[in-house]
Amino acid sequence: MSNAYAELVKEQKDVATLTAIGSLLGWDQETYMPPGGAGARADQQELLSAIAHQRKTSPRIGDLISQCEASNGALDDTLRASVREMRRDYDLATKLPTELVAELAKTQSLSQDAWKHARAKDDFAMFAPWLEKILGLTRRKAECYGFASGGELYDALLEEYEPGATAKQIEAIFNPLQPRLSALVARLCDSPRRPPDALKGIAVPQDRQHAFGLDVLKAIGFDLETGRLDTTAHPFCSGFGPGDTRLTTRYNTSSCLEPLSSTMHEAGHGIYEQGLPKATQFGTPLAEAVSLGIHESQSRMWENLVGRSRAFWMWALPVAKRRFAPAIDHLTLDQVYASVNQVERSFIRVEADEATYNLHIMLRFGLERDLISGRLPVKDLPGEWNRRFKQLLGLDVPSNKLGCLQDVHWSFGLVGYFPTYTLGNLYAAQFWQTISAAIPDLDAQMSRGEFGALKTWLNENIHRHGRRYRAGELCQRVTGRPLSAEPLMEYLERKYAPLYGV
Ligand code: ZN
Repeated sequence: MSNAYAELVKEQKDVATLTAIGSLLGWDQETYMPPGGAGARADQQELLSAIAHQRKTSPRIGDLISQCEASNGALDDTLRASVREMRRDYDLATKLPTELVAELAKTQSLSQDAWKHARAKDDFAMFAPWLEKILGLTRRKAECYGFASGGELYDALLEEYEPGATAKQIEAIFNPLQPRLSALVARLCDSPRRPPDALKGIAVPQDRQHAFGLDVLKAIGFDLETGRLDTTAHPFCSGFGPGDTRLTTRYNTSSCLEPLSSTMHEAGHGIYEQGLPKATQFGTPLAEAVSLGIHESQSRMWENLVGRSRAFWMWALPVAKRRFAPAIDHLTLDQVYASVNQVERSFIRVEADEATYNLHIMLRFGLERDLISGRLPVKDLPGEWNRRFKQLLGLDVPSNKLGCLQDVHWSFGLVGYFPTYTLGNLYAAQFWQTISAAIPDLDAQMSRGEFGALKTWLNENIHRHGRRYRAGELCQRVTGRPLSAEPLMEYLERKYAPLYGV
């Protein structure tokens, strides 16, 4: 390892540590901070993010990256990949003027607050001027980043979440997938033999749900010595430095197994964070996740491909019965399996099932692409949302609260983020095919509560590489082909057709 690289790592470690402190402040704000702390916390975050941005964009880091590039031959493949990603991050960060970073940070927090009130009052007009403002700043950011010729402004924003992806590539995956999903949803929802939801209305106290969640976390391999689980309004996962990964979930006392899906989802993110080589590489891209799409593939895999499978419930149902006794003593495996796999056209994305979920994402991808390009004026958003929603999901949206005001993302200027959810679903299904071939008795293992082989496979093939490979390259290496919609469609068809008798 060259001296320049060693010094570069030292600098980057400081930046990563500052970022981790910011995440810890954010975690505290969502979990235990008293409401009165909000003002001081905003000041703390503002100062910290300014310091972090300064450090991240310091000319010294730029010099060291150039030195490493000049002596590239002295570095092995892994370190060369590390320098490549550091160059990318540095160039992206230095393209943004500090003044814009600061104005974005301030506007994000005010706009998010306006969104919260507008959503509560179901009043789009209240939020519209803020959306206008944040979109203007987001557009300016995209212009600073720039995009390849033949591309569009939206590509520049995707770069923050899914490096290298373009709107055209995503469109090429989404467009043919959409009619196939719509057709499947229609068949399932209109089936006269759709199975009933036997879990509906079964109440279990929160502490028992928490205990069951911990049972599952331990079994699937989320390490509670280097992680913890808390409660928040919106579940999330935060990975700080080595040895500290935090999950949050929420409980629902009127639907006793539903919270497990968000616990397993966040645990999937957490297992990825714990699997990154932070102990030796913290601060470098080699200890960071590839992209949001790959991160989401991990959460979706544990939440859906594992957590909604029959094999998983063969093991988990007796565990849940012990924790919840006597609330679900009367339920059979078939009843529970059908209940956790209810397919329904509904308005809220975060409550959507596996079959309808991606239609919600396609709606947002189309709309935000038009918002950024200016093809869709902000004032027309509610009408356009409702029109396209009817087309995609066949329902009349009764209010903006159940429509275009439901998600926090746009209030925060997170444009280009939504497609990563569907990319995650697609990657998860494609990885799963490879995993099933590599571990032929995976179902039998899961039905005994054994998840070690699966977790080890993920550690070995995905987690340990950090950002050494870009998402597309990783997918090609792991599965032997580029990302395709086929594995997801095959999975949905194979699972839901027998369950819904179609
Ligand atoms: Zn997620």
